[in-house]
Amino acid sequence: MAHRTYLDWNATAPLRLQAGEAHAEACAVTGNPSSVHAEGRAARRLVERAREQVAALVAARPADVFFTSSGTEANMLALSAAIETAGEKRPRNRLLMSAIEHSSVRSGGRFSRDMVEDVPVHSDGRVNLAALKDAVTKWSRPLVSLMLANNETGVVQPVAEAAAIVHGAGGLLHVDAVQAAGRIACDLGALGADLLTLSAHKMGGAKGTGALVRRSEDIHLADPLIRGGGQERGMRAGTENVAGIAAFGAAAAAAHGEWAAEATRAASLRDELEAGLQAISPQAVIFGQAAMRLPNTTLFSMPGMKAETAVIAFDLEGVAVSSGAACSSGKVQPSHVLAAMGISPALLRGAVRVSLGWESTETDVERFLAAWRKLSSALSKEHGIAA
Ligand code: PLP
Repeated sequence: MAHRTYLDWNATAPLRLQAGEAHAEACAVTGNPSSVHAEGRAARRLVERAREQVAALVAARPADVFFTSSGTEANMLALSAAIETAGEKRPRNRLLMSAIEHSSVRSGGRFSRDMVEDVPVHSDGRVNLAALKDAVTKWSRPLVSLMLANNETGVVQPVAEAAAIVHGAGGLLHVDAVQAAGRIACDLGALGADLLTLSAHKMGGAKGTGALVRRSEDIHLADPLIRGGGQERGMRAGTENVAGIAAFGAAAAAAHGEWAAEATRAASLRDELEAGLQAISPQAVIFGQAAMRLPNTTLFSMPGMKAETAVIAFDLEGVAVSSGAACSSGKVQPSHVLAAMGISPALLRGAVRVSLGWESTETDVERFLAAWRKLSSALSKEHGIAA
């Protein structure tokens, strides 16, 4: 393949070297982690070492990590009315969520549709804390789901402030940290999360592995997602994906060591990319720019641009970017995130996401800008806008 510039890291990241090695080593281990013989114990050791590595990334105890098949599945495991704490055994009476959650949360998990309520966001992409306070006060025992960073805009949510509001009213807080973990600080205790979702493939693990992490054993999940052989303390039965889990552990350990330096490096590349983008097209709009964002993410649009066409044009120039949220059908839906931020339909149609990662370089930014120069000048001619 001709040289490609991959700028779609929020969709998925490449497998880290350490994760690939851990995956291959684990594939060579024969045992089932539930078996008592030496082979089984060897597989169990791999799973438990990974549990320690994943726990360390979010400053949790290994015993509070539940491995799942994805971030989506971890969200399903979390979003249940049956969650109990030592002090509250009655079911949660509402699921409150910000209007900009990922579709795996928006679907409501295991709550019935009529128990799910949205909390609006401000035009900068941050959740409206006053509206959150009203909603939790009204319901008193809700489960609230708020992402740490949005997958489309990269906007970082005021999770610690939200946690204080939620706990003050007797609620529990689930945090979807899929896009944030390994990119910004993600300390479960500092965030005030009761439950936290992770996905391996966003931080350089293999696709198809995730985890739900709880604050402490005080949080009792109570409602197994998959019943069977009792794996993952009975909450998610099925023989563990030992290789995927080992790779997840290795990726988490690498991310843990590198994220702070990588955040500074990515932010400087991202700033260069945004400055170049707006120098070429002053009428380009960057969403969420007024709020704190992930260091690697830019979501932008321009009047007259269509996201599907732009993504194809970039692809033909060798640059992989995405149009808002990636969806498995390949169909582009107008972004519910931008709609919730009150963005006009004309701009919403053109939203293109550029996301960087640890392999992204200055050359990638230059290639992106060269492709954008061509595309924006074609757009300007087509729409009679001065380039
Ligand atoms: N939550 C967020 C914020 C995401 O961006 C994604 C995936 O893009 C998920 C959850 C789902 O994770 P997974 O792909 O592991 O199912």
